[in-house]
Amino acid sequence: MWTDREAKEQIIQITNELFAHGLLTATGGNISARAADGETIWITPSQLYKGGLHEEDLVRIRRDGSVVEGSRAPSVEWQMHWGAYEARPDTTGAVHTHAPVATAFGITNQVFPPINTDAIFLRDTPLVPWYMPGSKELADAVHEALKQSRGCILQNHGLMTVDKTLRKAATRAMMIEETAKIVLYVKQFGGTVSYIPDEWVERLAPLADFI
Ligand SMILES: [Zn+2]
Repeated sequence: MWTDREAKEQIIQITNELFAHGLLTATGGNISARAADGETIWITPSQLYKGGLHEEDLVRIRRDGSVVEGSRAPSVEWQMHWGAYEARPDTTGAVHTHAPVATAFGITNQVFPPINTDAIFLRDTPLVPWYMPGSKELADAVHEALKQSRGCILQNHGLMTVDKTLRKAATRAMMIEETAKIVLYVKQFGGTVSYIPDEWVERLAPLADFI
């Protein structure tokens, strides 16, 4: 269990890291963490520039989106964050990014081929079709996808991850972007592609639960 102060500190730290890595755009993407009471969540505010958020910009909301603490409007994707937590009740952190390579990966209907261990761990990452950002339809589709995997790619939009800790959710978001980047480089080189042998894919796949 953690305090509200720890939740807010980690949201700011991870938002800064993801922005520095280019996974969040100036106003695109949002981060949340369960609050200390277990019944509300802390979430980044709507629209505000993601490169310079402060703890006082964060908003604590109930399941219906109503604000308990904070003076700003919550992210328009607040329903998607709640949908993620409800898909996996043991989770405490969720990350939505507009990571450019993972987004292009989804738009072009790519899959992760067995080019490295991360690609094997991510191979079941579902692809959620386009729905209007901020809509209940998107939140419902993400809710279903995250029952299958702790991360999903949103076509024509970005990606969403949820995990036991906010740190783990952020790590998965970075892994999806980095692995999509390697797939892109492989396609750009265009030579003969060497895959990890099937036998090793079978042996490595069960380890996906540990990431
Ligand atoms: Zn978005």
